[in-house]
Amino acid sequence: MPGVLDARDRDSEIHALTTGPLDVLVIGGGITGAGAALDAASRGLRVGLVESRDLAAGTSSRSSKLIHGGLRYLEQGDFKLVKEALRERDLLVSRLAPHLVRPVPFLYPLYKKVVERPYVGAGLVLYDAMEGVKRPVPHHRHLTTRGALRRAPALRPDRLAGAMVYYDAQVDDARYTVTVARTASRHGAHIVTRASAVSLLRDGSRVTGAVVRDEETGRTFDVRASRVIVCVGVWSDLVHSASGVRAGYQVRMSKGVHLVMPRSAISSETGMIVRTSKSVLFFIPWDSRWIVGTTDTEWSGDRAEPAATAEDVDYILREANRVLARPLTRADVLAVYAGLRPLVAEPPAESGVTEKPTTKLSREHVVDTPLPGLASIAGGKFTTYRLMARDVVDAAVADLPGPVPPSVTGQLPLLGADGLPAVRASAARLASDYDVTVEVAAHLIDRYGSLASEVLDLIRLDKALGRPLIDGHPYVRGEVAYAVTHEGALHAEDVLARRVRLLIESSDAGASAAPEVVTIMAGLLGWNRRRRAAELRRYLDYAAANAAALRTPTSPEPLPEATAKVSVPA
Ligand SMILES: Cc1cc2nc3c(=O)[nH]c(=O)nc-3n(C[C@H](O)[C@H](O)[C@H](O)COP(=O)(O)OP(=O)(O)OC[C@H]3O[C@@H](n4cnc5c(N)ncnc54)[C@H](O)[C@@H]3O)c2cc1C
Repeated sequence: MPGVLDARDRDSEIHALTTGPLDVLVIGGGITGAGAALDAASRGLRVGLVESRDLAAGTSSRSSKLIHGGLRYLEQGDFKLVKEALRERDLLVSRLAPHLVRPVPFLYPLYKKVVERPYVGAGLVLYDAMEGVKRPVPHHRHLTTRGALRRAPALRPDRLAGAMVYYDAQVDDARYTVTVARTASRHGAHIVTRASAVSLLRDGSRVTGAVVRDEETGRTFDVRASRVIVCVGVWSDLVHSASGVRAGYQVRMSKGVHLVMPRSAISSETGMIVRTSKSVLFFIPWDSRWIVGTTDTEWSGDRAEPAATAEDVDYILREANRVLARPLTRADVLAVYAGLRPLVAEPPAESGVTEKPTTKLSREHVVDTPLPGLASIAGGKFTTYRLMARDVVDAAVADLPGPVPPSVTGQLPLLGADGLPAVRASAARLASDYDVTVEVAAHLIDRYGSLASEVLDLIRLDKALGRPLIDGHPYVRGEVAYAVTHEGALHAEDVLARRVRLLIESSDAGASAAPEVVTIMAGLLGWNRRRRAAELRRYLDYAAANAAALRTPTSPEPLPEATAKVSVPA
């Protein structure tokens, strides 16, 4: 059914990919690939997408989860990027995805009495001025020291010289990516996960599709397409070289680590952004948690599961403790996660020119058309995915015979955005109609927008699905079933890491919820006892590996005393 990614329909989706040539085959199911599939399908093209693991399993579930212009990029003089990103932020908050993208205030503490306020203030005036005319998020404000401490009592009061408050927006990145993919499916795209493009099909120099390996069965099949679009982020160089493609860009990987903590660890009613010697550190409110990060270090290891190290954890704690009155310790940390920024290298590594540190590389995207029939994109930011998708599809279809309409995604709200104000106002009625608590109805509306009724329909059929998945978290069992029947989840990891976020929100990385998740999935996917045991073991191993950085002993270098000086670069 269009708009529904039912894991039980995977075989028929594979069949659809292989019968008759597609106009566009998208390789990669992160936000860029999902966005490209939506862009192309909503122009009326026949589209397929293959993703080697799960939607958003790469960088797109491991970001800071901000939809923002990026104050830091303003300081680096990246005005075009900031302006574009702010306009996108406003479009997503106000029209395209108000159910998923929400404004969030950030407090920027000031430490240099005379010089810093005018400097930061001017930056924020510019930041606000770069938005469009309709402003879905409030203007920045100046705060006195007392005002700053009232909003963020967690800050160390000594040397604090006031603060600024400005607004950006936040998103559940994995949920957003799945919703974009579902919206693409709503417009006819065929989406197949656990399917890797292993090489490109060629007719002379022209690319005519890809050889795809079904990672569930090991079987390979050909997918023919007039155009192939490569959206594989940090895997770009691998995908290009597997088919002997010399692309005009290379990707450098920069690892970013975040710590997740309970809200009680840091007393503040707003998010915070503080300067570090290398970059900035965000304290991002995340329901009943904080996400604190990030780091920015060159990476050349495993692309699929980049590991956070003990040093990464210590670095974040150390930088956070420079500004906090009560120092954080490892005991405060619930979870840690790492992601890889796909930064477009400039200049290419083989030129021998000294490379810039990854903190200084531009976050703009690059589109390349290295061969007829092939377009490839990397770089950019989650926030600007829609523009990236538009640009790469434009490049891919430029010489298709017959006219292709321009991108329409700027006028296309994502699934779940429809009728949102009325749905939000109806939480109590929905609760009584479906016999669930108002908290459950409100939670589902919060995460699925107007699609909440689809989850509630499952709960109506099986009352047990209305029960909490695990104590202390708002998720209900129906969300697990929905992840399979509507959101294409094939394994427990897909559910616990990306459809609900227990991998990063719970202190055991979702391990205690895993048996229930496997039981619900088994009922829908027909898993026998052996398969259930294998799925459970697979998830528990995954959860244990994710928690490893927190178990590693602290590095010998001591954490700074709470009285250490705040480093505020001029
Ligand atoms: C630490 C960190 C913080 C960030 N914070 C922000 C932020 O707050 N705001 C913001 O706007 N941006 C942020 N970003 C950037 C943003 O997350 C990325 O730009 C974006 O997620 C990249 O998406 P992508 O689709 O290009 O790559 P990915 O999400 O990595 O997707 C590529 C996909 O391709 C698949 N793939 C690879 N090879 C193949 C193959 N052969 N066949 C099929 N599929 C394949 C992979 O499995 C993967 O799912 C952050 C990034 C990091 C690392």
